[in-house]
Amino acid sequence: MSQAAIIDGAGFAAGLRARVAEGVTAFRERTGRAPGLAVVLVGEDPASQVYVRSKGKATAEAGMVSIEHKLPADTSQDELLTLVRALNADPAVDGILVQLPLPPQIDENAVIATIDPDKDVDGFNPVNVGRLASGLHGFVPCTPLGCLMLLKDRLGDLSGLDAVVVGRSNIVGKPMAQLLLRESCTVTIAHSRTRDLPAVIGRADIVVAAVGRPRMIKGDWLKPGATVIDVGINRVPADEPGKTRLVGDVAFDEALSVAGAITPVPKGVGPMTIAVLLRNTLVSACRRDGVPISD
Ligand code: NDP
Repeated sequence: MSQAAIIDGAGFAAGLRARVAEGVTAFRERTGRAPGLAVVLVGEDPASQVYVRSKGKATAEAGMVSIEHKLPADTSQDELLTLVRALNADPAVDGILVQLPLPPQIDENAVIATIDPDKDVDGFNPVNVGRLASGLHGFVPCTPLGCLMLLKDRLGDLSGLDAVVVGRSNIVGKPMAQLLLRESCTVTIAHSRTRDLPAVIGRADIVVAAVGRPRMIKGDWLKPGATVIDVGINRVPADEPGKTRLVGDVAFDEALSVAGAITPVPKGVGPMTIAVLLRNTLVSACRRDGVPISD
């Protein structure tokens, strides 16, 4: 039996980051300034601290200016909104990202809605959600856009393919479904109330798994030859006592003998998120300064 191709998300992301860095150099030569990404972290959640550090490092490596704001865990909503408004007004800031989750005294939706939609490089502001749904230019959330890039790189034209997105979060599942619809796929969104998930998945040429349950999607649920994008990041005990490792939402070893292609976890979708964030920031800077955007 043939084995699925492994989709090299890490390699694709490295290529995208290199292209963004070239675009940044051209932008600087033309405008005399570097694109700026402001990242706001409230509190000391360890995972969020790691994400913010790696975003700052990647931003600087791409030749952009990284502006980090670290606020204490007891920051009030008004204080955070005041900072977001100042970043909206700051001409050196092209992208604004407020790291989620936020402490309980702050309403995430109020913060997301306050970010200028034209600097909302995460694509979570309802204006950008509406633009995506209406087929207008805006910012698309980084993880699903990264998944789409991997799918198009692998499959080319997606039109007419049956796609199942498992998960309906605002961050991954819903925008992923919108993007696949935009590519003229026939899209099904599955979630925790879906009846007979194996049968739904069994019809799909494309499966995007964004659930957060380790190895939930079994190999024998898949249609032979399907392309599988595994967004899940789940930490499970490793074989070695006391150690852990990351696995996806798909039973990878089983899927290998059924799927046509599959992203691994780690080194699949994960590295795409930051690469797309950098790309969105460069696109924002180009739009704001009227510079043509190269691919
Ligand atoms: P959420 O918890 O917000 O959403 C999970 C979705 O899965 C929900 O829509 C839920 O359905 C659905 N679900 C839960 N259980 C089942 C089930 N048994 N059958 C079918 N559907 C089910 O997660 P996110 O979308 O934020 O993230 C999903 C995964 O992707 C996580 O592992 C996360 O770590 C990872 N992730 C990875 C990123 C990256 O690679 N850079 C970025 C973002 C996320 P319902 O709505 O009915 O509750």
